[in-house]
Amino acid sequence: MPLALNCVNTHIDKFGKKRHCGQVEPYMDPKTEQVFCPLCDNEMPNITHFTKVTLKNLRQFRTKPQIPFCVKCQSCGKEAQPAIVSDDIVCPSCSKAHTHLSEPFKIMLKDKLRTANKDV
Ligand SMILES: [Zn+2]
Ligand SMILES: [Zn+2]
Repeated sequence: MPLALNCVNTHIDKFGKKRHCGQVEPYMDPKTEQVFCPLCDNEMPNITHFTKVTLKNLRQFRTKPQIPFCVKCQSCGKEAQPAIVSDDIVCPSCSKAHTHLSEPFKIMLKDKLRTANKDV
């Protein structure tokens, strides 16, 4: 069971309406021990030591936003979602082709990137 806390702040929901957060499953920054609300992203005040220990034990930590199909570029070292340019998979940062990728992975990437960018 994740730990739930009451957030008194408001956030904008997916319909563009202002809402009170209410019961949320907060997450902690393990470095600063600050606790945040996942909906409004505000720091939650008055967190007891016991709650912090519980969050640590449950590993309810702040996670980095995931970039889907992220590839590390061998030329410039940047990790980013690659772009497809004339059937080649290229780095969006330096525009060099990702030649280190295996053929099956390239086929999968092309497929995923095409469908992922369709609904944007
Ligand atoms: Zn909140
Ligand atoms: Zn690059």
